[in-house]
Amino acid sequence: MNIDAGNLERLTHAILCGFGCAEPEASIVAEHLVMANLCGHDSHGVSVMPMYGRQVADGNLIPNQTPDFGVACGAITQVDARRGFGHRMALLALDHAMQTLDTHKVAILGLKNSGHISRTGHYAEYCAQHGYVSLHFVNVVGHKPLTAPHGSREAAFSTNPIAMAMPVATQAKPLLDMATSTVAFNKIRVAHNKGEQAPPGSLLDVNGKPTRDPQPMAERREGTLTAFGEHKGSGLAIFAELLAGALASDATVASSPAIPNGAINCMLSVIIDPSGFDDPEAVAARTLEYCQSVSDCAPIDGVDKVLLPGEPEAISHADRSKNGIPVDDETLRQLLQTGVDFGLDYATLRAMVV
Ligand code: NAD
Repeated sequence: MNIDAGNLERLTHAILCGFGCAEPEASIVAEHLVMANLCGHDSHGVSVMPMYGRQVADGNLIPNQTPDFGVACGAITQVDARRGFGHRMALLALDHAMQTLDTHKVAILGLKNSGHISRTGHYAEYCAQHGYVSLHFVNVVGHKPLTAPHGSREAAFSTNPIAMAMPVATQAKPLLDMATSTVAFNKIRVAHNKGEQAPPGSLLDVNGKPTRDPQPMAERREGTLTAFGEHKGSGLAIFAELLAGALASDATVASSPAIPNGAINCMLSVIIDPSGFDDPEAVAARTLEYCQSVSDCAPIDGVDKVLLPGEPEAISHADRSKNGIPVDDETLRQLLQTGVDFGLDYATLRAMVV
């Protein structure tokens, strides 16, 4: 079924209020998740709400949290999100860290102990809206690792996303936003919900053999995800773990205990004011010129047009804004049940989207 984005956001907002989120948190989280759906990342859209519900019920995700803002040391700032909703905690942390830009032209943020921050590209977009270049490295702790390093059948890190963007007229262009696993864990869960196979090369079974059956990973976290790009992606994932976990916070998967329904994100963000190098307009002009040269590259057979990172999401956004967001029956059932688990009325919730 296709659901209008505004209706899906209202439903999600109502369930977040059921969790105990007040304004502006309920709006920030609902908007973030529906934006992920609009961008085509259903794995990081409203389908994560049941996980958030379980975390809230367990006391591992805390609505309306106040982060602990560290004092800047030069351009470096640490913020402890104290298990608050990551979507709001990360924006508050970025705002806090950006205060060093006036003096240093760079701000380096270490965000730790955060609830799930979901779509990492959201934070690169936020920095671009302020006119800043940014790079973000994220690790995931609080549950056992899911992704095997190159050559292993055993997991040693999670899906450790990275994101980076250039600002062009306050837009993130281009915007690279990716898990360092071949696919994000939540894409395996969504494939399972839809009764689909996992993408080729994305999963190993418990014996280290390639598999496309998403069920053991989606339901029991059995087997491992693979790192993208073999040894190179595996190396990048290890550095995301080290930058976000060993440097910017105090939790790598090697030291952090697994907690029920745990998914805690830590993030190292590097935010750069382009005016430290040159006139920002000149940087934007060179960025556009270069992007155009990439777009102009001749496509191979079977490819209509060479896309820049961020363009698939923009295409999806345009399509889904117009035609609605496809939500499979199982995901909708789980979403509504999450609301019911928090005392909301099933019929009232369902009427918002059906
Ligand atoms: P993906 O593989 O769909 O896309 C990765 C990147 O490749 C994007 O920048 C996209 O624009 C680009 N891309 C895709 N197809 C392209 C093409 N044909 N040509 C040029 N560029 C192309 O994304 P993913 O790795 O599955 O990640 C999905 C989302 O999951 C991201 O938003 C990520 O931040 C999020 N995530 C979050 C966590 C977390 O713990 N918070 C963990 C993992 C992933």
